[in-house]
Amino acid sequence: MQSLTDLSKHDLEILFDHIQAAIALVDRDGNLISWNSAFDVGKRQYPNANNLKDLFLKKDTDFIQTKLSDGVSEHWAGEFAITEKTSAVLCDFWLVPTADDNRIFIAERIDSEADAEDMVDKLRRQVTLFKVESEISKKLARNKQIEMEAVLAQAEEVAHVDPLTFLPNRRTIIKDMQSEVMRAERYRSFFSISVVDIDNFKAINDNYGHPIGDEVLRYVALQLRDSIRHPDVVGRYGGEEFIILLPNSDKNAATEQAARLCRHIRTQVVHTKDADIQVTISIGIAQFMIGEDSWHSLLKRADNAMFEAKKLGRDRWFVGD
Ligand code: GH3
Ligand code: MG
Ligand code: MG
Repeated sequence: MQSLTDLSKHDLEILFDHIQAAIALVDRDGNLISWNSAFDVGKRQYPNANNLKDLFLKKDTDFIQTKLSDGVSEHWAGEFAITEKTSAVLCDFWLVPTADDNRIFIAERIDSEADAEDMVDKLRRQVTLFKVESEISKKLARNKQIEMEAVLAQAEEVAHVDPLTFLPNRRTIIKDMQSEVMRAERYRSFFSISVVDIDNFKAINDNYGHPIGDEVLRYVALQLRDSIRHPDVVGRYGGEEFIILLPNSDKNAATEQAARLCRHIRTQVVHTKDADIQVTISIGIAQFMIGEDSWHSLLKRADNAMFEAKKLGRDRWFVGD
């Protein structure tokens, strides 16, 4: 029966070239004599290498030389540069002396679990990084959203609120009036408005200066807001003029409110840093006439009524026809 040792030189070469391990025949100093394909793959990265020691890390050179010189069969594990990988990998090594005092060198890569663990570790780190990144971007997006909402809210406020009195501004109170007109037309409900104007306000500005005038204006606005009841709303129509919208109220209800407001303001004292100031207001009332009025004509009637109140001596209300 044929045994492996009976193989021809040619057969052996074929055998060596099909082995995954890197195999080389070297002399006792490590000079390369011949090598198989697996060895050649790695050696190609070191074209100038003609000694086994050239293929080990510098720190291992002396160690390899000792092994070569010993002339006995050796088996150890260590780092080896000669693989398709660019960095050194862990290998099992065998160094076996031949009859003619050469050495057969075998390096077989240890496909260590450490490699797999490294890979898993790397993946795990990537997943963690991804998680952290997505958490951060979620947070950033959320913050951005909050920021945008705040900006929007601010913009809404700027668009709807009068900056001096913090009451709904002219635009808003007109819009509210338009909505009430539509509601009244659709449901045949009624509503009224009151135009409120501070009496002789110009004199306050003239006597105490504009900033004190502003203070009085703010105070009156606050009093009006706090003296009306839900669902009534008061807005600043312009200058020292306000509009009160009274949904579901006829002119009698508006009259009651106007009387109360005139009385209330008359009894108030505005304590400013320069003087204690008292003011009065005049109010013009108009009830919406379904099928006849627009918000514009309603406002005109209320405005005219307010001027009637002024003509009659101020600090009073007047109902428009
Ligand atoms: P009347 O009783 O007829 O209403 O007299 P009046 O002085 O209140 O009327 P007029 O419309 O002549 O004057 C209103 C004044 O209100 C004129 C204007 O300078 C002042 N005014 C308008 N807006 C503001 C404001 O925001 N702040 C201050 N301090 N004054 C304002
Ligand atoms: Mg006035
Ligand atoms: Mg006025």
